[in-house]
This record gives sequence, C-alpha cells and structure tokens, in this order.
Amino acid sequence: MSIRKQRIAKRLEVLGLAFNGQKIGGKYTIGSATFKTLDEIEAYIESLEQANEQQSVVETVKTETWEDRNRDAALQYQLEQANEQQSVVETVKTVETWEDRNRDAALQYQLEQGMSKSNRKPFNDRAGYVASKKNPITGISNVIYVASEQGIESDSKYVTVCEGHKQMISSTSIPKARIDMKDASQWCSECQGLSLLKVS
Ligand SMILES: [Zn+2]
Repeated sequence: MSIRKQRIAKRLEVLGLAFNGQKIGGKYTIGSATFKTLDEIEAYIESLEQANEQQSVVETVKTETWEDRNRDAALQYQLEQANEQQSVVETVKTVETWEDRNRDAALQYQLEQGMSKSNRKPFNDRAGYVASKKNPITGISNVIYVASEQGIESDSKYVTVCEGHKQMISSTSIPKARIDMKDASQWCSECQGLSLLKVS
C-alpha cells in the first residue's frame, strides 16, 4: 500500500472505518460508500473529520452548559440558604426587640409606680389635711390634702388621695376635690377595676 493510502487508512481508522486500498469493480469501497479516486476519499474523510470536530465542539458547549447550570443551581441554593439564615436572624431580632420593649415597658411601669409612691411623705402625718370620706370600694378613706403641705408635687393646689391604693388626682378647688373624693373609681385605676368587677 502506498504511503498516501496508508495515511488514508489511518485517518479512516480514527473515524471507525476500514480501508484496504483495493479497488473492486474500479471503485474503492469504504463502509457503504464507493469512491473512484483517492482524492474523493480524502475529501470524504475531510468532511467526516470536520463533522466530528463540530460535534465535539457541540458536546463541549453542552458540557459547559451543564456545568453552568450546576453552577447556577449551586449559587441559587447558596443564595436561598443565605436568605433563609437572614430571615432567621431577622425573626430573632424582631423577637428580641419585642422582648426588649416589654422589658422596657415593665421597667417604666415599675419606675412610675415607685415614683408615685416615693414622691410624697406618708399620709399618716395628716399635714395639709382638708377633708376625708370613706371610700365604699376600699373601706378606707379618700382624703383631700393641700398638696404642698402634704409634700406632694402637683400642678394644682389640692390633691385627693385614695388611701387604699395610694393613687391620687389633683384639683384646683376644694369643691372639685370633694367630687373626686366621693368617687375614686373615676380616677383611681384600681378602684375603677374593682367597681367594674362589682357591676359585672
Ligand atoms: Zn383606689
């Protein structure tokens, strides 16, 4: 076999085709195809090789596409995981904030309660006493005082105190204070709660 035919045989072998270099009936037979000349065979091989090359390019692209898809999926997954963690963090933050608010409110309430009790002297010294009346809700007196004499900080001259609950209301005159003295449920929250309980 000539060197040319040997080369053709090698190229065809790579393509999975056999070539014996023999003409039968005036033609070379390769697979199911027949050729009159070696030039035709080489052109045929050329076209097969080009087709194979394009095929391998297509397969390379396909592989890249799959890698891209996997990479995208991986990124998407990471993103979703990150989002999930973020939402967990936000939920924890929100809960903590609400707990903080409740704690703050509780402290504020305790502070206000403490202040209302500590801002004045005990009532038993009766300083600034004006009048008193038994509170039917508590069984203990409601007492009108001149606020400054009792040592109570007040925006008005008089204060009426529910002695049972240590809550008070200020008033500008004794007649007004007397109205307060008669019904502590109008300004003492605890008396109001008790009176509502009695009604229901
Ligand atoms: Zn009361």
